[in-house]
Amino acid sequence: MAIDPLMPVYPRCDVRPVKGEHCHLVSEDGRRFLDFAAGIAVNILGHSHPGLIGAIQDQAATLMHVSNLYGSPQGERLAQRLVDLTFADTVFFTNSGAEAVEAAIKTARAYHQYSGNSDRHELITFNNAFHGRTMATISASDQEKMHKGFLPLLPGFRYCPFDDLAAAEALIGPQTAGFLVEPIQGEGGIREASQTFMQGLRDLADRHDLLLVLDEVQTGVARTGTFYAHEQYGIAPDILATAKGIGGGFPLGACLATEKAARGMQFGTHGSTYGGNPLAMAAGNAVLDVVANEAFLESVRDKGERLRAGLEQFIGNYPELFEAVRGRGLMLGLKMTAESRPFVVHLRDHHGLLTVSAGDNTMRILPPLVIGDAEIDEFFDKLSAGAASFKASEAA
Ligand SMILES: *Cc1c(COP(=O)(O)O)cnc(C)c1O
Repeated sequence: MAIDPLMPVYPRCDVRPVKGEHCHLVSEDGRRFLDFAAGIAVNILGHSHPGLIGAIQDQAATLMHVSNLYGSPQGERLAQRLVDLTFADTVFFTNSGAEAVEAAIKTARAYHQYSGNSDRHELITFNNAFHGRTMATISASDQEKMHKGFLPLLPGFRYCPFDDLAAAEALIGPQTAGFLVEPIQGEGGIREASQTFMQGLRDLADRHDLLLVLDEVQTGVARTGTFYAHEQYGIAPDILATAKGIGGGFPLGACLATEKAARGMQFGTHGSTYGGNPLAMAAGNAVLDVVANEAFLESVRDKGERLRAGLEQFIGNYPELFEAVRGRGLMLGLKMTAESRPFVVHLRDHHGLLTVSAGDNTMRILPPLVIGDAEIDEFFDKLSAGAASFKASEAA
């Protein structure tokens, strides 16, 4: 008996991708898959985007990494673009989503502690949230399966039912620093916060000098049809964590904040060796070149509406399998009548279609944002065939 050299924390399936071609993956054994998982909402430009490849190749050949001891023309450019595109005044770059949420949590705590309110260190977070796998980010989630074996948790988080404004208000106390919330829960099952809830959290934050911290790691960077999902609620956060799509497949994340919210983040308070290195900045800038314009965002909304309309019609044929269509833009989910994983596995193994399972019996549909009519048609062909054969196999 020997432990696998790859630490066995993932139950990996036997699809072993070795090549990506636009919206398809090719596995070691030559099988071809339509990729509506996109590396879990990461490969927003698909798998072989010439602009992204070229930017990374050029930057790799010019200058890859220098650390944050030096000035960063590449980072200044990407930070300025994010500031221009969003509510934020300032940006801290990270290498992952969890690090972006960590930076957001530290920024929120520092906001209060810098002003002498050291009691105010608690963030109110929401049931079934997912914020990452570091100690702070698992502590921020009430999901026990992520805690097991890793106790004790970090103090400073209070769990509240998702989308329950009255419960959130009732939890506010002298130790509250703010709210940390996903506008649409991803891992939790494409569960959308209501307009009343998001506006209500914003109002509560304003009334009690609390910070509204949004985790847009999955919803961000055009995924839902606006650059960030909160724009659709007509509200702005004080702090926001972003990652996944922002590097298009290159590991990159960021914590965005207003000047006021970032007042505790001063020289020497936070850092990262790799964070925002020239290679990552080149990837981020190349992604923004494609997605940060109204025409692209509109195309995401159009394709999202087309997919959603098709899905609504499709589920009507299988009421015993599917309950509802969820989500916005190209962050969609099919709520099933039972656990979604067996169907996700069936589509993958028998129909060459990759999707992602999630909580609340929901199958996630997270295609590259550059899909076209051909990929949408192929998706529905595979999905319909998959549902028919799945139902037949269940009946057998
Ligand atoms: C994926 C995800 C994270 C964690 O990102 P990593 O890059 O895996 O650390 C955090 N929050 C949300 C909402 C996510 O979907």
